[in-house]
Amino acid sequence: MSDTIEKIKCLIIGSGPAGYTAAIYAARANMKPVLYQGTQPGGQLTTTNEVENFPGYPEGITGPEMMMELQKQAERFETDVRDGWVTKVDFSGDVHKVWVNETKEIHCDTVIISTGASAKYLGLDSEQKYLKLGGGVSACAVCDGFFYRNQEVVIVGAGDSACEEAHYLSKLCKKVTMLVRRDEFRASKIMAARVKNTENIEILFNTETDEVLGDGQVVTGVRVFNNQTNEKHEIPATGFFVAIGHKPNTDIFKGFLELDETGYIVNVPGTSKTNIEGVFVSGDAADHVYRQAVTAAGTGCMAALDAERWLAAKDSTFEVSTSTYN
Ligand SMILES: Cc1cc2nc3c(=O)[nH]c(=O)nc-3n(C[C@H](O)[C@H](O)[C@H](O)COP(=O)(O)OP(=O)(O)OC[C@H]3O[C@@H](n4cnc5c(N)ncnc54)[C@H](O)[C@@H]3O)c2cc1C
Repeated sequence: MSDTIEKIKCLIIGSGPAGYTAAIYAARANMKPVLYQGTQPGGQLTTTNEVENFPGYPEGITGPEMMMELQKQAERFETDVRDGWVTKVDFSGDVHKVWVNETKEIHCDTVIISTGASAKYLGLDSEQKYLKLGGGVSACAVCDGFFYRNQEVVIVGAGDSACEEAHYLSKLCKKVTMLVRRDEFRASKIMAARVKNTENIEILFNTETDEVLGDGQVVTGVRVFNNQTNEKHEIPATGFFVAIGHKPNTDIFKGFLELDETGYIVNVPGTSKTNIEGVFVSGDAADHVYRQAVTAAGTGCMAALDAERWLAAKDSTFEVSTSTYN
């Protein structure tokens, strides 16, 4: 059994902007990082056509292209990028143990968790169709609202994030129709008041999505129904925003790391440290507020620097690399 155990200095779990940025920094600091990509190599951005808000791409770039560039940059410094899904961890002892694909056991001095989060969708076939086509369905108003300037959009959701996103859209779009399933918001009073008081937001309570309508390529409207009367009607719209929450990809860490009530990993404020020494977190796995590629990349950098310093403090033969700053 011990023959099959691999020992490494730094394991990075996840290949989104957080994981690759952590890899770039960790590799340049001689930590010889091994990065497991998981089932979504490149992370959430590989599901979007246009990224216009990541600094350094004045003309914008597609999500898949951007993530290939990040991977190349991480590999240039000899990050060992591997296929594989982390199925189990054990952070209860001095050695951080991780299993990949159920079988391969790795013992790590440091672990950087960059497993991200997944946006929740309604699950309607028509919603998924236009999401996959990049034809007008989005789970991120901050990312995609700009593409709907002066247009009419529909947003689904009733919580604080939904209100915040509806308000954000109202500043860009001609009209925002907000669908709320119950007869009241789940959001805080102040957030609910903000959307109620915004002139170009129409709120439809007791209203759910029946179908996202389109011409086969792009969204043209949404058919909704009143769940009290069953009456249906169609709302013309070019964008359909889903703001019903995110699920952080952190199930495997339950029982080993402190998670909040939604499952986000709790970090020591202002750092990437978790409640376990030598285990760090970056990106959307800990961030329920900003959820952007650039913030994920920023915290990936923090995690690698924190891990490097932690290793240096623990092991006097490991020197903090000056190359980090070159
Ligand atoms: C449709 C869409 C459009 C977006 N557009 C923009 C935009 O224009 N600009 C912007 O800044 N942000 C945008 N975002 C948000 C942005 O994509 C995320 O904030 C960012 O990708 C988070 O990065 P991350 O590295 O934390 O995680 P993710 O990108 O979520 O990556 C997580 C990684 O972890 C891996 N993983 C998960 N669990 C395991 C496991 N058990 N074992 C191994 N690997 C695992 C996955 O395979 C994946 O590679 C968009 C998001 C979506 C969904």
